Amino acid sequence: MSREADTRDSIDPPEITAESIHHLDDPRFTSENVAIVTGAASGIGRATALVLAANGLTTIATDADEDGLDETADKADDLAVEGALETVVCDLTEDAEIKALVETAADAGQLRYVVNIAGIQHISPIESFPMETFDLLYRVMLRAPMYLTKLALPHIREADDGVGAIANMASVHGHYVTRDKVAYNTMKFGLRGLTKSTAAEGDGDIRAFSVSTGYVKTPLVLDQIADTAEERGITEREVVEDVMLGQARASEMMTPVEAGNLFAFGLSRHGKHLNGDDLLWDGGFVNTYE
Ligand code: NAD
Repeated sequence: MSREADTRDSIDPPEITAESIHHLDDPRFTSENVAIVTGAASGIGRATALVLAANGLTTIATDADEDGLDETADKADDLAVEGALETVVCDLTEDAEIKALVETAADAGQLRYVVNIAGIQHISPIESFPMETFDLLYRVMLRAPMYLTKLALPHIREADDGVGAIANMASVHGHYVTRDKVAYNTMKFGLRGLTKSTAAEGDGDIRAFSVSTGYVKTPLVLDQIADTAEERGITEREVVEDVMLGQARASEMMTPVEAGNLFAFGLSRHGKHLNGDDLLWDGGFVNTYE
């Protein structure tokens, strides 16, 4: 196998198995209660939707990618999830579609949880960064989470006990930055501000938190290896070993289901003191400069 093929093989997303899913004991994790998960056609979003459905919730798995959502639904069937997994196609740049998504979720039971995971990446220095691409990342990764939060809060407040939570997928790029990712860095820092603002207005009943990981084995990461190699004039292996894992004290990237398990823990009663802050699960990445 060539070194480049070997590099890709080492970060290929693994299959999600029933054994890899963490089950939490929570009286609210039942099929009467509903969670929306965005980005659910791939990577971390798919894994999180499967983990929440396996934990008994009615999970509305949403994405713009219909074929990917079908694969997520097939996987939920294979895993025989305890709750239900319904798919809704929604382009997060379209307000009308976001509104319809929340209405569907509210019709499916008691909406209590929203998990904002959908995201995209673009690698380019600031001077040549296309403004329309900056706007696109803003709409998908910051404006849509804010609009979903705005629309979901009144439904969550209607629950008998008014309890629920909004979770946002941040990143080590919500703590510090790498060059040539100005839009991504900006949206992840912004998302942490949205998280704190939501916690402030949730009055303790509706919590908010974010999850920050280093690099996770997903298509989003695979797809940026070639661009990063070209931008920095290094090999793809050097991108993985030096840029993506260089500062982490972990020798392997996280898997999507490990991130999904973190969301389930944060949303559950075990996360009751987590409010406004971040689960930084980065293998020591941001604490280590060299
Ligand atoms: P991914 O590419 O596997 O999945 C992202 C999903 O978002 C895709 O299914 C895509 O269709 C969806 N999406 C994009 N634009 C959309 C739109 N307009 N409307 C609806 N859906 C849209 O990526 P991933 O690695 O699973 O990333 C998920 C999240 O995790 C992102 O917010 C990313 O920034 C974050 N994250 C990823 C890593 C990592 O290493 N993979 C690390 C930290 C944070």
